[in-house]
Amino acid sequence: MAKYVYDFTEGNKDLKDLLGGKGANLAEMTNLGLPVPPGFTITTEACRHYLAEGEVPGGLDEEIGTHLAALETTMGKRLGQADDPLLVSVRSGAKFSMPGMMDTVLNIGLNDESVHGLAKQSGGNERFAWDSYRRLIQMFGKTVLGIDGDRFEHALDELKGKRQDTELSTAELRELVGTYKEIVREETGHDFPADPREQMRLAIMAVFDSWNSERAVLYRRQERIPADLGTAVNVCSMVFGNCGDDSGTGVAFTRDPASGRQGVYGDYLSNAQGEDVVAGIRNTIPLQDLEQLNKGAYDELMAIMATLENHYRDLCDIEFTVERGKLWMLQTRVGKRTAAAAFRIATQLVDQGLIDLDEALLRVTGDQLAKLMFPRFSTDAERTLLTKGMNASPGAAVGKAVFSSERAAELAAAGEDVILVRRETTPDDLAGMIAARGILTSRGGKTSHAAVVARGMGKTCVCGAEELEVSISGKRFTAPGGVEVTEGDVISIDGSTGEVFLGEVPVQDSVVVEYFEGAADESDELVQAVHRIMAHADSVRRLGVRANADTEEDAARARRFGAQGIGLCRTEHMFLGERRQLVEDLVLAASPEERKAALDALEPLQRTDFIGIFQSMAGLPVTIRLIDPPLHEFLPDLVELSVKVAKGEATDKDHKLLEAVRRLHEQNPMLGLRGVRLGLVIPGLFAMQVRAIAEAARQVEGAQAEIMIPLVGAVQELEAVREEAAAILAEAGVEALIGTMIEVPRAALTAGQIAEAAEFFSFGTNDLTQMTWGFSRDDVEASFFSRYLELGIFGVSPFETLDRDGVGRLVRIAAEEGRKARPDLKLGICGEHGGDPDSVHFCHEVGLDYVSCSPFRIPVARLEAGRAALESAGSGDTR
Ligand code: PEP
Ligand code: MG
Repeated sequence: MAKYVYDFTEGNKDLKDLLGGKGANLAEMTNLGLPVPPGFTITTEACRHYLAEGEVPGGLDEEIGTHLAALETTMGKRLGQADDPLLVSVRSGAKFSMPGMMDTVLNIGLNDESVHGLAKQSGGNERFAWDSYRRLIQMFGKTVLGIDGDRFEHALDELKGKRQDTELSTAELRELVGTYKEIVREETGHDFPADPREQMRLAIMAVFDSWNSERAVLYRRQERIPADLGTAVNVCSMVFGNCGDDSGTGVAFTRDPASGRQGVYGDYLSNAQGEDVVAGIRNTIPLQDLEQLNKGAYDELMAIMATLENHYRDLCDIEFTVERGKLWMLQTRVGKRTAAAAFRIATQLVDQGLIDLDEALLRVTGDQLAKLMFPRFSTDAERTLLTKGMNASPGAAVGKAVFSSERAAELAAAGEDVILVRRETTPDDLAGMIAARGILTSRGGKTSHAAVVARGMGKTCVCGAEELEVSISGKRFTAPGGVEVTEGDVISIDGSTGEVFLGEVPVQDSVVVEYFEGAADESDELVQAVHRIMAHADSVRRLGVRANADTEEDAARARRFGAQGIGLCRTEHMFLGERRQLVEDLVLAASPEERKAALDALEPLQRTDFIGIFQSMAGLPVTIRLIDPPLHEFLPDLVELSVKVAKGEATDKDHKLLEAVRRLHEQNPMLGLRGVRLGLVIPGLFAMQVRAIAEAARQVEGAQAEIMIPLVGAVQELEAVREEAAAILAEAGVEALIGTMIEVPRAALTAGQIAEAAEFFSFGTNDLTQMTWGFSRDDVEASFFSRYLELGIFGVSPFETLDRDGVGRLVRIAAEEGRKARPDLKLGICGEHGGDPDSVHFCHEVGLDYVSCSPFRIPVARLEAGRAALESAGSGDTR
């Protein structure tokens, strides 16, 4: 029979799929002998069953009952018992951390009787008991019963006026409980449920349901977390941080999640319960100050943090509570960190002997490296500093200040860059945070909601800028010195330093880009960390990495970034600008002689282009693709020409051009006269390009040309072009491979035949995706992909990450059948997917020889190729 409930003593950290991150790690800490309040975890499997069937699996209620009974025996109390109650928390916990996205209810088991029992338990601390009770009704009302949280907040604000919540008297809290109960009655038509078991059951269901709450769905989409995992539910005996000044609650990191430096990083709030810290209700104190307040608990916490780091061999973040002087651990997990910290920490742990370089490489990702390649503010620019907050998530962001999530989303949709400014953020701000370039808050520390979520998203964030007086309703903030910033004013925020500037500050390259360019300060710790990990990736990867480049400058940059050749040089890019005129002449040529003259004019220009590229690549292979797009793309616009003609302003040539534009017009140009079809229809066009390549290769020593034919769907097309090209090469005495792109599904399906005529295949996955799905690559992302993403038809655009099931299947077929026909067939990819982390892993798995991508993504591809090699060798899970 399926087991749906695990006691904390039964699980371990490797059971995250089943117990969620929180449950698995609570079990791990329990096994390590750390002070964890006893409890149990209901599995994600139970949640999935509930979400699919609309009811809990059979036997679950009984199993929960058995575990609750065992918990009651361990604790020597019964849930909600009137004179000496056991209270529990019910907390969500999915496999992947989703901070604040799902529900939690604390203090379950309290009612009008057991509140007295709780007071008695705490040595007559009535105030604490009533404070806990009002918190239960508030949290339960909001999360389980779905009542607008503001109703409770208003009632609390009205009662406390300008005082802190800790200053409310017992009588006032009692009154507040009454008010809250009234709110529940008004809103739901029922009394607040007094039965402790009913409270627990409803809270468990609410946590299950919260998996599909709007904000959780949005977060998962943003973070690419699969939608079908479900959440586990942790039922944990309560410990109380709100018992008085000798109690409190806090969060901590074993090292700085922004820089990676070792030390004590965290926030502590005395006389408070867990949610108060992240909610930014009162200002926290730095964790170091706990040493003065309670040296025993502080020392124990430090020892536990060291134990956890050594055990997990990684940065951990933790939540803890001190109850009347005694420390309790409520959560730990391998902590989120900034991209820079990920690289630093990985190499620090290597130096500490905790992990080896393979593992260090598996601990960083291409996405993180890409983030590090973002620009930063130029240091010599003039800036007007408004204030300084906390450097919560690095990067440089410039945009118009906006003060609500809705406005942020609205302006961003209109193409504006915005900075979302809030006092503090809540999960309701998620849409605005996604839309904004950066986030600025005036309250909350590095563990506040804004900081945690922004770091997770890789978004620039400055938090806790306390000098700012933010007026959300007035849509403005006032900085020290009286400078006022209102909605729409441009500000710049530096998430690495915490600085906030008025106006736009110019940005410059990142230190990591400088490193790849060979211009960085080599003593910089981050530069050293990136260097060591990149060197290791290069030493273990099997995949080659080439560049998509069609200018000398791009080729040169690509080499500096580590490209081992060019995988795609799009020659059509060389037909633009002043040369457009020559293409017009070609199209208008009325006789073979005129056509030859036009081609003769283009040839030397092409030759010069190729010479430059061969020189930049100094002996590395260069795949040159013959012209691909339809010719009318190089001609003037139909409407403009028609207007000119209609106004009588057209020249003779314009008239001819108009006729040509009309003749060449196609309903579906992407499926029309382009690629190899063009080469077969316009005599001499491909031959001219091949001659230019051959001549350039002859002139540059060591040049390694590879000639690539686009859009082939049948071997006959390729054979015709190949024959002509081979003859030109032979005549010039130049050796070059001749191969084809695989970007038409038919080519993939007849790869065995095509390989007879091709020495290499390069997968053009942009067109292959377009033609496999039947999605116009120029239109669909803007028109309906957002709806498709919403519906979960795919988790990410197939133009971004290769669709393994469909397009990937074609790639596999082509690779296998191609290699069967020609064992030494060289295989590469040159669609956009060549620089996408997940797709690079796929290319490794399928056995391609190389990936080719834009110069800026080459470091990411190198890194991911290294990780893919380790992953397939079984060194670890790289997700
Ligand atoms: C492709 O289709 O994947 C490709 C690389 O060619 P282009 O993007 O130039 O059509
Ligand atoms: Mg293509």
